[in-house]
Amino acid sequence: MTSPSPRLRDVLADVPSYVPGRRPAVLEGVTPYKLASNENPYPPLPSVLEVVARASQEANRYPDLLSTELTAAVAAHDGVPAEHVVAGPGSVGVLSQVLTATAGDGDEVVHAWRSFEAYPIVVRLSGARSVAVPLRPDGRHDLPAMAAAVTGRTRLVLVCSPNNPTGPVVTAEEVDAFLSAVPDDVVVVLDEAYREFVRPEAGAPDAVALHLAHPNLVVLRTFSKAYGLAGLRVGYGLAHPAVADALRKTAIPFGVSTVAQAAAVASLEAEDELLERVRAIVDERERVVAALVGQGWDLPATEANFVWMPVGERATELAEACGAVGLSVRAFPGDGVRVTVAEPEADDRFLEVAARFLRS
Ligand code: PMP
Repeated sequence: MTSPSPRLRDVLADVPSYVPGRRPAVLEGVTPYKLASNENPYPPLPSVLEVVARASQEANRYPDLLSTELTAAVAAHDGVPAEHVVAGPGSVGVLSQVLTATAGDGDEVVHAWRSFEAYPIVVRLSGARSVAVPLRPDGRHDLPAMAAAVTGRTRLVLVCSPNNPTGPVVTAEEVDAFLSAVPDDVVVVLDEAYREFVRPEAGAPDAVALHLAHPNLVVLRTFSKAYGLAGLRVGYGLAHPAVADALRKTAIPFGVSTVAQAAAVASLEAEDELLERVRAIVDERERVVAALVGQGWDLPATEANFVWMPVGERATELAEACGAVGLSVRAFPGDGVRVTVAEPEADDRFLEVAARFLRS
């Protein structure tokens, strides 16, 4: 007799798999660089590593369930009451808590596309349906079209600013108009994973003030990018207390390790030093963008730590050309290639590939 196959949820059949950025191939005599995951090229600060070593001595104990110290530090940093702050295992962890709290079978979740690849995954896992609204040709969110896509079944809208993988922000005016157009009982997420790389002149909204004024707005932030802690998995959400409570209920217990909590607190304490690094990355981004534009590329206006190369059907070809010189980048076949801004030597090598590619 054959044993019955285990019953799994039907929905899994159409959940895409997350594709992680690959490590670069190791080539003889060439320093490899990973430009595929929008990571911070700088290693953790010695002061953060010291805290990590100390916190790991408590690895036999469970972490603080509510990340109390981290929550207080974030609240002081962002100027909000601690009850508005929910720490999670990366901002993608908090995002999945938002989905569990808001959407299920038969519901709809509106988001831009192309945007962060985790969106359709977490939406589908919740049982809800993704309503993907195309970006404008310049890689920006089309917020009026997203507002128009909201129906009586919409429970959540995801707005990514700067948008991964294209890079532009949504402006304060656009978000104001959008929040006025969307019913107050629809939760709106403003995913600000790359916020520290945004220049003031980009016109991005003050998300903290916005969420205080709009109880349906949840802001997502992370320690993975500007703070360089991607490997420790820690991020947070800012939300109205009723929503924040729901996000605590939908969390996997003890999802944020003691080490991650301590490292995040230490990173906030070392913020000045870390933000100097962010400024260097932003300067480097501007150098890379100016060089690409000088070569003749027409690119979306990135405010993040990456650039988007809109090469369409040639995406795989460009990624392979990068791979051949020891750079791993992220190709989205048929659409474009996302390249993380990193060490100047890595960026120079990418610029050479980009120049050759344009002529080929
Ligand atoms: N949001 C966006 C837009 C991202 O690009 C990422 C990471 N690639 C995340 C959220 C998740 O980051 P983390 O879970 O590391 O905080």
